[in-house]
Amino acid sequence: MKPTRKTCVVCGREIQWRKKWRHTWHQVKYCSRACRKNGLGAVDKALEETIMTLLHKRSASSSICPSEAARKYLSDCDEDNWRSLLEPARRAARRLAHKGKIKIIQAGVTVDPSHFRGPIRLKLK
Ligand SMILES: [Zn+2]
Repeated sequence: MKPTRKTCVVCGREIQWRKKWRHTWHQVKYCSRACRKNGLGAVDKALEETIMTLLHKRSASSSICPSEAARKYLSDCDEDNWRSLLEPARRAARRLAHKGKIKIIQAGVTVDPSHFRGPIRLKLK
């Protein structure tokens, strides 16, 4: 039987099936040790909310960059180190895309949330 496709609950990338998981695949949640260790924190959830808030404020046809969510989140809690939140914001975008809430766009085209590389923009689905 072919295992069902799964995405990591932390980074939102597709989890590559491994033989050692043949009996426990239904329980696997993380793609890597790093993701299991990081887990999902308050910041990750807040970034998802910030992305949704920013998108809902704009017209349905407009898009945002994940960095806007990182900066908005940090301006709300009065910090300035938004670059450290860029990757977390991209992970939040992947999770939202897998949940069907947003789409991830590159050069005007919707991309697979697991496999894109490079700069992205986000749009409401
Ligand atoms: Zn992961």
